[in-house]
Amino acid sequence: MAGRALRRRAVTLMTGTVLAAVACTVGPAAGVASQGPYGTPADGSRPPPVDCRATPCVALTFDDGPTGYTPAVLRALERQHAVATFFLIGPHALHHRADVLREYRDGDAIGDHTVTHPHLTLLPPARIRHELESAARQIASVTGHRPTIYRPPFGAWNAKVRAAAGGTGLSVVMWNVDPRDWKHHDPRLIERRVLAGVRPGAIVVLHDRYASTPQAVPYLLRALKARGYAPVTVPQLFATSGGMRSGVVYHHGP
Ligand SMILES: [Zn+2]
Repeated sequence: MAGRALRRRAVTLMTGTVLAAVACTVGPAAGVASQGPYGTPADGSRPPPVDCRATPCVALTFDDGPTGYTPAVLRALERQHAVATFFLIGPHALHHRADVLREYRDGDAIGDHTVTHPHLTLLPPARIRHELESAARQIASVTGHRPTIYRPPFGAWNAKVRAAAGGTGLSVVMWNVDPRDWKHHDPRLIERRVLAGVRPGAIVVLHDRYASTPQAVPYLLRALKARGYAPVTVPQLFATSGGMRSGVVYHHGP
């Protein structure tokens, strides 16, 4: 009991630290919140609620945030006790620190989506490394943790991009379900397109930069759960099958 009480106290202290970090929007938050609200690692790598080799899992991913639409996505996830993966543009993370910390505390995974969202395949290696490394540092200045996963803007990658990711300690995360929420701004159509393509281990690409996407999330989660899918983060998708390695490109889970 004493251990549990101490642990609860430690979590309370951690939560206090996070709140202080939210209130203070300048300066790095290094070391902040190494534990989530349930005393587990809060960087999306905590043990999955299910074994994805035995239960069908799906990883919803959201690119380009945080933006003004991110809180609505987070509210929808929180209401259904679901986690997701957010690939952040570095300067957006600096401008929306409270949303990044909310993702972090919720147990969502946070990944790198560069600084300026360029077509990396068109850049020289030094510029690619700069895009990945600077965004990783910007994200770490908010969460206290360097990301270990990366989503290439426009899904554009080649050997040069993969090598840069490997050198920066990042896995490359693609997707195998794309409802094209950037084109179809109809929540029910987004839901139908995801359900038509989803398979166990699917990685779904979405964007928390359009008003219609957060509206689709509650429908999507309910429909996926009704079909027996467990929503997990990308690292959780691979947690029971050897984990993820930097410089490797992943399109879907096992
Ligand atoms: Zn993007």
